[in-house]
Amino acid sequence: MGFLQLNVLNQIEPLAAVGIDLGTTNSLVAVWENGRPKVVHPEGDNGYVPSAVYFPADGAPIVGKEARERAVFDPEHTIFSVKRFMGRGVTDVAEDLKGVPFKAHSGKNGVIEFDVRGRKLTPQEISALILEKCGEVAARATGGRALQKAVITVPAYFDDAQRQATRDAARLAGIEVLRIVNEPTAASLAYGLDQKKQGHVAVYDLGGGTFDVSILAIEDGVFRVLSTNGDTHLGGDDFDRCLVGAALTELSHSVDPRKLDDPAFRQALRLAAEKCKIELSTYPEAEMHIQIPDSNVQWRRRFTRREFEVLTKVLVERTLHSCRRALADAKLEPSQIDEVVLVGGVTRMPAVRAAVQQFFGREPHTKLNPDEVVALGAAVQAHVLSGGTRDVLLMDVTPLSLGLETVGGAVAKVILRNSTIPCQATEGFTTYVDNQTAIDFNVLQGERELAADCRSLGRFRLSGIPPMPAGLARVAVRFHIDANGLLTVTAKEQSTGVTARIEVQPQNGLSDADVQRMLANAYEHAKDDFAARRAAELVTEIGTMLRATEKGLAEAKPQLDRETILDIEDAMKNARNACEGRDARELQRARDAFEKATLPLAAVLMDNFAKKALTGKVIGEV
Ligand code: AMP
Repeated sequence: MGFLQLNVLNQIEPLAAVGIDLGTTNSLVAVWENGRPKVVHPEGDNGYVPSAVYFPADGAPIVGKEARERAVFDPEHTIFSVKRFMGRGVTDVAEDLKGVPFKAHSGKNGVIEFDVRGRKLTPQEISALILEKCGEVAARATGGRALQKAVITVPAYFDDAQRQATRDAARLAGIEVLRIVNEPTAASLAYGLDQKKQGHVAVYDLGGGTFDVSILAIEDGVFRVLSTNGDTHLGGDDFDRCLVGAALTELSHSVDPRKLDDPAFRQALRLAAEKCKIELSTYPEAEMHIQIPDSNVQWRRRFTRREFEVLTKVLVERTLHSCRRALADAKLEPSQIDEVVLVGGVTRMPAVRAAVQQFFGREPHTKLNPDEVVALGAAVQAHVLSGGTRDVLLMDVTPLSLGLETVGGAVAKVILRNSTIPCQATEGFTTYVDNQTAIDFNVLQGERELAADCRSLGRFRLSGIPPMPAGLARVAVRFHIDANGLLTVTAKEQSTGVTARIEVQPQNGLSDADVQRMLANAYEHAKDDFAARRAAELVTEIGTMLRATEKGLAEAKPQLDRETILDIEDAMKNARNACEGRDARELQRARDAFEKATLPLAAVLMDNFAKKALTGKVIGEV
């Protein structure tokens, strides 16, 4: 019997071009999805591929997390930090080779070859294994979609041979390289700095083992590297070593020094130090604890952030020294730097951020994850090179404020511009007139003070408010933006619990250029807007005063003399006229005169109220 072939319907599409940060310590893949770059990771995994390859006695090489763990017990057969050796000859990296436990020698054309269990492997081959692992992780995260095309990042100082070696590694891994992009450029792209016409960017990258600072010039959205500086042997590991050193000094007083040399103990100590360092970025104090070898005793020591900062001050100083040299090479002063971008996990340290901010005299960009920002930027570049556009915004922050229109046409801002998402905020609102049973909400986006000058994202109505005097209803309006940028506005009347809500995507249809235009408008009109807002508030206030006065006059007119009544009526007329004119100064004058004219009426009303309150009460109760 023959079989008919059916059309294949479930063939899996390859992944769209991705960005790969092929790092010294970790590598990472990011894709473009729903208008923004995103690191790909399978569920329950952060997607980071440690750049380490372990060669077991038999079987295929093991790459990534498992390889890093094996490195502790079998360092000789685990190759790490291969990026340091890409496209270099043995003589170039003699110092680096001294510090690693695996063997390497000079192969053909003076190129490095690693010797592992009798196999000879080039850095390109090792990197290819890491890239293949990246592809595997991406496939696991995306239901089996294959990684075919990529933008790969390299340090700005990589020379042609190092860049070519990176291309070769990708080719060996079956990946088509769309472009090799400099890491600082990628980080700047992730923050959308290419949207600027011109300017200077400093990218400060303090990773696990290396420090780089790059000064870039933006010219019509294109980045040019003006200078680079750094230290290929300065990074988070050195910060860990400061804590390890402090711990060893204290331990040596009570523990046999030979025990402290045990490699497994040293590795555990290093991990404990790193954990403590990371905690100190969040908390003012953290504890380092470790099991003393051959004993059941735990050594514990609390470090304060201050203490850690003192221990590591010299390391931070060294990075600033490199910044100084990079600026000098670029022939720029710190004040000529327009944007500062932070890359690398160590830049989460508050002391590092503060030092960088002080050095460049401006607040650095920190909204994106500093470990992911390079991969994210590479994904932006991959998207653009594959013909995609980037009209939509990238940043994990609200580019414009969000709020509600108030009575009178002003804007009550609820979430301010540049708030990191996800975020939420709640504001209280009330009714404007007596027995008002519904409120109409107009959700607005923008920096201007009047609703008419902002962008309306949508309207909704909260009905079912029980009738009560104006100003008594309590309506809580909650703005919530989830991680995908979806805004949900929920209004709830507190006494009855009646609720209404609306969902909108504030970013839809909004390009970077739109945002810039809206911001520029806000700056330009700041003074006029302020006056217009004040006018809107005064119109609302006068409206409330007019209604209250009409009510008061209906009750107390017979108790007032003719002159007072004429004064009040005059003031009311003027106030109404001022509301038509909407001139803030005129409104303020009319409001103040109105208030003054109604003082005798207020006194009579207070008196009547007091008398009513006393009615029926015996004197003794008063
Ligand atoms: P990277 O190579 O960019 O992934 O940087 C990794 C380095 O950043 C390692 O030394 C980490 O210990 C360090 N690191 C990660 N998170 C933090 C943190 N919250 N505070 C200080 N250092 C950190």
